[in-house]
Amino acid sequence: MATPERLSQGLHARNPVAIRQLAELTTFRIGGPATVVTVEDRSDLPELLGQPHRWLGRGANLLVGDAGIPELVLRLGELFSRLEIHPVVDGKALVCVGGGYDLAKLINATVAAGLAGPEGLAGVPATVGGALRMNAGTSTCWMLDWVSRVEVVRPGNTVPEWIERRDIPAGYRHSGLPDGTLYLGCEMLLAPGDPAALKATAARLKQAKAATQPLTLPSAGCVFRNPAPSIPAGKLIDELGLKGLRIGGAEISPVHANFIVNPERTAQAADVAALVHRIRTTAQQERSIDLRMEVEVWNVPELADAGAALLPDLRPTAHPAKPGFSVLASPATL
Ligand SMILES: Cc1cc2nc3c(=O)[nH]c(=O)nc-3n(C[C@H](O)[C@H](O)[C@H](O)COP(=O)(O)OP(=O)(O)OC[C@H]3O[C@@H](n4cnc5c(N)ncnc54)[C@H](O)[C@@H]3O)c2cc1C
Repeated sequence: MATPERLSQGLHARNPVAIRQLAELTTFRIGGPATVVTVEDRSDLPELLGQPHRWLGRGANLLVGDAGIPELVLRLGELFSRLEIHPVVDGKALVCVGGGYDLAKLINATVAAGLAGPEGLAGVPATVGGALRMNAGTSTCWMLDWVSRVEVVRPGNTVPEWIERRDIPAGYRHSGLPDGTLYLGCEMLLAPGDPAALKATAARLKQAKAATQPLTLPSAGCVFRNPAPSIPAGKLIDELGLKGLRIGGAEISPVHANFIVNPERTAQAADVAALVHRIRTTAQQERSIDLRMEVEVWNVPELADAGAALLPDLRPTAHPAKPGFSVLASPATL
């Protein structure tokens, strides 16, 4: 584990640094210790980015190993968690939001302001930075559909820069920018909508999720990418007869087979890894399908080869292209 002493005194004074169990900071409630820095000062980015590190948002798409993480774990603090909503000009309002801001709070704010778009992401647990990196999506839209430009630090750089949306490839569950890109925030240009209708849309999406997903139990959402648009991974795992299978404290959800849950908060990463291995082996043997993980895995050696290829998927689609946007792949229905 990275030792806090490695960081300069000035950095310690400006940014909270603590050894934390990552189980406390991830929705799966699994994961060992790491040195966690909450970044509150832009001037400290060069020192932090010069150290081996990983960025953590809400921890809603992560499985972290029980031994923890050797690198620094960096989180965007208050400075990067601000929201500004500007008045409508020429039919659009400029919304500026920091990468550390909670996506649900952003949706509440745009709905209340009568601005349309982000409500289509209701029910996705995320920070804005994590949603940009993952291009988080639902059956109706993706995060990058609503973004006009993104403030990033490219891997190997320390200086923030703005990238226009047209220069971001935006694939299925990935922005298409290189791994290691830091997402500091974004701007959106949103058209007015009826607040009551926007609120109803958000409520409907959240209800649909609650009816079909085990939202009251710790998980990291859908574990596997759909192997093809016509083959939802959850349906496949259900057909393989694996729903409800339990290893240690981890269980394939009886509600939605593409969720692995941690019902008593006792599961270890190794339990989840054993279930993932069982699902992948069965899918391979019985259907010749190579299931790849959508959940990102940090330091779980048993799952080293289970991840998705992180190339953006740019298949043409029926998903309606927004003005000025490249055509996107069709979002998977969760
Ligand atoms: C119950 C449940 C339901 C879900 N439903 C959906 C859904 O409908 N659609 C969907 O797309 N996803 C869904 N997910 C997965 C998850 O919500 C998304 O992947 C979300 O985008 C993760 O955001 P986060 O802030 O938690 O990122 P994290 O899980 O913390 O991190 C994910 C990745 O983003 C990186 N990252 C985070 N912040 C930054 C930053 N500022 N700069 C650079 N990199 C960063 C991390 O290093 C990591 O690589 C669900 C998860 C759960 C638990």
